[in-house]
Amino acid sequence: MPETSTLPENPLLAPTGIARFPDFRAEHVEPGVSAMLEELETSFQELEEKAPATWEGTVDPLERIGDRMNFVWGLVAHLMGVQNTPALREVYEKMQPSIVEFSMKLGQSRQIFDKLEMIRNGEEWSTLSPGQQRGLDSLLHDARLSGVGLDGEAKARFNQLKQELAEISTRFSNNVLDSTKAFGLELTDKDQVEGLPPSLLAFAAQASESSDATPESGPWRITLDFPCFRPFMQHSRRRDLREQVYKAFITRASAGEQDNSELILQTLQKRRELAAILGYKNWAEVSLSSKMAPDVNAVHQLLEELRVVGFPAAQRDLQEMIDHARTQGALDAEDMQPWDSPFWAERLRESRFDFTQEDLRPYFPMEKVLDGLFNLTKKLFGTSVEDVTGTVPGWNEDVSYFVLRDAKGDQIASLFLDPYARSADKRGGAWMNDGLGKNSLFPQENGQPRLPVAYIVCNFTPPLGGKPALLTFEEVETMFHEFGHALQHMLTQVDCGLVSGIENVEWDAVELPSQFMENWCYHEPTLMGMTAHHETGAPLPKELFDKIVAARTFHSGTATCRQLNFALLDLELHSSFDPDSEESPINVQERVAQKTLVGNRYTEARPLNSFGHIFAGGYAAGYYSYKWAEVLSADAFAAFEEAGLEDEAAIVNTGKRFAETVLGLGGSRKPMDVFKDFRGREPKTDALLRHSGLA
Ligand SMILES: [Zn+2]
Repeated sequence: MPETSTLPENPLLAPTGIARFPDFRAEHVEPGVSAMLEELETSFQELEEKAPATWEGTVDPLERIGDRMNFVWGLVAHLMGVQNTPALREVYEKMQPSIVEFSMKLGQSRQIFDKLEMIRNGEEWSTLSPGQQRGLDSLLHDARLSGVGLDGEAKARFNQLKQELAEISTRFSNNVLDSTKAFGLELTDKDQVEGLPPSLLAFAAQASESSDATPESGPWRITLDFPCFRPFMQHSRRRDLREQVYKAFITRASAGEQDNSELILQTLQKRRELAAILGYKNWAEVSLSSKMAPDVNAVHQLLEELRVVGFPAAQRDLQEMIDHARTQGALDAEDMQPWDSPFWAERLRESRFDFTQEDLRPYFPMEKVLDGLFNLTKKLFGTSVEDVTGTVPGWNEDVSYFVLRDAKGDQIASLFLDPYARSADKRGGAWMNDGLGKNSLFPQENGQPRLPVAYIVCNFTPPLGGKPALLTFEEVETMFHEFGHALQHMLTQVDCGLVSGIENVEWDAVELPSQFMENWCYHEPTLMGMTAHHETGAPLPKELFDKIVAARTFHSGTATCRQLNFALLDLELHSSFDPDSEESPINVQERVAQKTLVGNRYTEARPLNSFGHIFAGGYAAGYYSYKWAEVLSADAFAAFEEAGLEDEAAIVNTGKRFAETVLGLGGSRKPMDVFKDFRGREPKTDALLRHSGLA
């Protein structure tokens, strides 16, 4: 470990602005975070005791505290995702409890809450902008959900339940992880791996316990990690092995030391009690109190609307699969089991569309894709994106840097892009982080508000063998998705930090801009405009484009029903289900499955026991958000379809309206109002059903 004196000055203690990534060391975290907390504790205490109950006296300083914490701890958390070294992980875990403790203190301060209420009920209220009013209401609501209104025994019980739930959720997710890792099927004979694609063989050889395993001759270890489990179920020709692997997967954490059954029941009981202490009937009501969906009924209504078309479509998907299997002489019609359907769906897909993701790659060099995406951004929103990599350093040499300019040429935001997978230090998946939010509390030298900074992190295949980075079509969609999040953050027209960009956007509305952008990948001129074969420069052949479009809706009934099954199960468990009644979570699982799943079911299946989204993540009574936002994004895209996708002027006009409403207003206005500003009416499901081929 280097001497402290040889370290660059601590970038965590720098004033707000773009982080000085190259100067950052794990050794900075402990002194940086401690100093920050000490400083914030003092200003918070002063605020509690002395601040006048005005926006400038209380809300502004409160926002400064939040902003400071986001800058410092947000930077550390961001680097945990992209520069995850053992040293950083260790110090992150060490400092996290004090951050959590300080956050709880902020949320539960009765003195601050009283001042906020005084502003809410006082004369100043009517002079605040609608965005400020909404920001203040959210602060009050969050404080109530944090238990600020509780006293004595109720407060003690509330805090105890919170602690217990946090602990249970950690145990739940550890059990899932441990039971996932506990299974491994070591295969040694070639006939056991028949049909498996080369990428899976490579993965399985690497996972093998044998040190001299090779992708060609094995041995191969099949694990329950999703990147292994999914392709194995789709491609293994050994029905007996598929059955074995499926059963292991769907019964994870349901027996022995790692059994989550009791934790599920306890979680549901404790959440119900928490809800009651806060004055709600059940946990679903608590969850929905800060979402766009007005109530449990509205969610039920949406899910049911999708189910009545999704369910018969899923039945047709199943019949098609059975018919296809039968033409291959492979199985009795009645005998399509859960471990057979992924396999036969994949065979049917191959026979119908005859292309793979790998066939598309050569047409999508990274640079060309970004060109196409930026041209679209310019056309739709009048915003230009300029690559200025090198002018401001990122956290890794792969990271590029862009500035966004409005039609007048003024800079309005900037963006870091970290596109490629790295073996050691980078978390999997793709996400957008807000580095800095637009905020007039922190003016620049020219007096304008601080500009937003976004980070997009992906795990695309890096450039290999002297070729440029070549993306699959799925990766192109991911790029558009994350850029959609970043656009909402960067094109915000709001400069009150509480509600600018993606801040304060409801959970079930936040995927609107991201999924909206994905639709453009199926727009022929847009897609063709970002293809160029990396050797010949030729655009994507028209027939391949047609196949991409046709494959988009393949078995979407089945996919819809799977999502509805999770959404409905989650909602029922957190609303109608009473943990103290005769009914068990398994009964609820069965009741929901009958309405949402077609075909044979494995009676010992325990999907709830590994449903981390709702028992160890933030999705409790919120899993429906995926579908809810998809309705919004499809309907928003339909506005462009109605205006005419061939009509440039119409696209520009509609794009301008989208930029001024959905992207521009973000969390400063109720999401339903923002949607109506753009669309002129409430959302409908028609477009989603049509895009999914279910209309
Ligand atoms: Zn997203």
